[in-house]
Amino acid sequence: MKNLLRGVSPSARYAVLGDPIGHSLSPKIQQAALRACGLPGEYVPLRVPSGSCGEVLSLLAEQGWIGANITVPLKTEALEWCQDCSVEAREIGAVNTVLFADRRGLNTDGPGFLRTLPDLTAPRALILGAGGAARAVAWALRQRGWPFFIWNRSPSRAEQLAEEFGGQMLPTPEVDVGDFNLVVNTTSAGLHGQALPVHWPTKGGGLALDISYGRELSPFLRSAAAFSWSVQDGRAMLLEQGALAFEAWTGLPAPREVMAREIEI
Ligand code: NDP
Repeated sequence: MKNLLRGVSPSARYAVLGDPIGHSLSPKIQQAALRACGLPGEYVPLRVPSGSCGEVLSLLAEQGWIGANITVPLKTEALEWCQDCSVEAREIGAVNTVLFADRRGLNTDGPGFLRTLPDLTAPRALILGAGGAARAVAWALRQRGWPFFIWNRSPSRAEQLAEEFGGQMLPTPEVDVGDFNLVVNTTSAGLHGQALPVHWPTKGGGLALDISYGRELSPFLRSAAAFSWSVQDGRAMLLEQGALAFEAWTGLPAPREVMAREIEI
């Protein structure tokens, strides 16, 4: 396992663990935040395959690292490794932020997403997807007290999530989003270039959020924009979850403007 750290800067003290990891923008925003606050230690990406998360976290803890972010597919493995977890991490069932000193796990995805939600009058939300990230979004919508529906390609997962977080399942194979004014795409369909079976209303419109991010708008956001919906990609959530993680590691206010500039928002 020590091979994993071969070639990694000896001053690295923070990391993001996942597989794949090359696309992650976390190193950009966190490194900029450390620099802006004059803090020592580098933040590096580490590709960690499924099944090895606990071992790698133990190694980093032993070596005196300070904090890590955890991404797909390791968030439940990280939860299992932690000796102590925040209420959010327990309720969402996933850890995306680790503090090595006390082996504590947090989930900043849910609270981070919550901070990106606009004020809506008479909100009626739809979550597309029922994977790990959908749990954080459902948690946030429940915190906000907004009614929400869940659609998923595999309906049984949507049913389970709706039951757990107090939403309602949308049982149809195709989705008519005309009844909603907030639609949040948490699926990874766009990452594989796959389209979702979503029909946009020709009149009216609301806010379409895609929690994924990339160089271009996702197919989901492109089609929403074509039907005059407002669109927002996952960079705002990335920024907020990252800022909350930074604050937990350092005890300092995160330099959000610096971090936002790094990802052009
Ligand atoms: P999971 O693997 O846990 O879930 C993937 C979800 O996508 C499942 O609901 C799955 O449906 C669905 N899905 C996959 N392919 C398709 C398809 N072709 N058509 C319809 N549905 C599909 O992943 P996560 O929930 O952990 O992550 C999802 C996305 O969210 C990732 O792109 C991730 O990068 C992003 N994310 C962004 C964050 C941010 O800060 N901006 C934070 C966390 C995640 P099924 O159940 O049927 O398989």
